[in-house]
Amino acid sequence: MATHFVIEGLKAAIDGKEILKGINLDIKGGEIHAIMGPNGTGKSTLASALMGHPKYEVTEGKAVLNGEDILEMGVDERALAGLFLAMQYPSEIPGVTNSDFLRSALNARRGEGNEISLIKFIRQMESKMKDLEMNAEFAHRYLNEGFSGGEKKRNEILQMMLLDPKIVVLDEIDSGLDIDALRIVSQGVNAMRSEDRGFLIITHYQRLLNYITPDFVHVMMQGRIVKSGGPELAERLENEGYDWVKEELGIVDETVGQA
Ligand code: ADP
Ligand code: MG
Repeated sequence: MATHFVIEGLKAAIDGKEILKGINLDIKGGEIHAIMGPNGTGKSTLASALMGHPKYEVTEGKAVLNGEDILEMGVDERALAGLFLAMQYPSEIPGVTNSDFLRSALNARRGEGNEISLIKFIRQMESKMKDLEMNAEFAHRYLNEGFSGGEKKRNEILQMMLLDPKIVVLDEIDSGLDIDALRIVSQGVNAMRSEDRGFLIITHYQRLLNYITPDFVHVMMQGRIVKSGGPELAERLENEGYDWVKEELGIVDETVGQA
């Protein structure tokens, strides 16, 4: 089935405070959508709500991946359905090696009875690590423990490459990256572009979009998507910032606010 992910009227709250106020997005296989927006406008909340983070309560709406509402699934089932999220701040898991973590994640994604052999897994992991110019020692380090910002982001891309998901959500994958790491991470994403995979790339800065050309660009403010366009929208934001969007829409404070 061709990949199709539809987010419809998604509202989410943290500690009873509404952060997402009705998000609509339609992502088809082969498409790259970018969400841009100032800080505090709800971008990471969208990623966390899709992931099923317990702190984020979905109060309304759907997120349907190939006919199934992932919001009704457990976190593991979402991964099995083909959803992959790279969080802005990946968790450190002391005691679990990166390679053990990757193998369990991959086997969970492949499903029972279809587990990958250890040899095959190691071969795949090592080849992708090479592509990402990651030192082989990262396989045996505890997951994200003591990884630099850039190393964590590369590791998220490694997970994505191994898991072969249908829908990829990357939250600020460019933050903390120097220009070389940015290039490698972008190459990883571009190599994974395919007709049956859709991407939602959340970023504060336009520079990532110089490396990964989106088909659609959406601007988020106050927990809503307030403007959508093509790649030219990202360019205008780069040149002129967000003020013109606020003026056009009569927005004074773009954040979700304290109300
Ligand atoms: P962005 O990613 O666009 O910078 P976030 O989604 O992180 O924005 O945050 C949106 C709003 O939700 C902010 O006001 C932020 O303080 C609040 N928020 C996000 N996560 C939490 C949390 N875990 N606890 C309390 N407030 C939160
Ligand atoms: Mg964020």
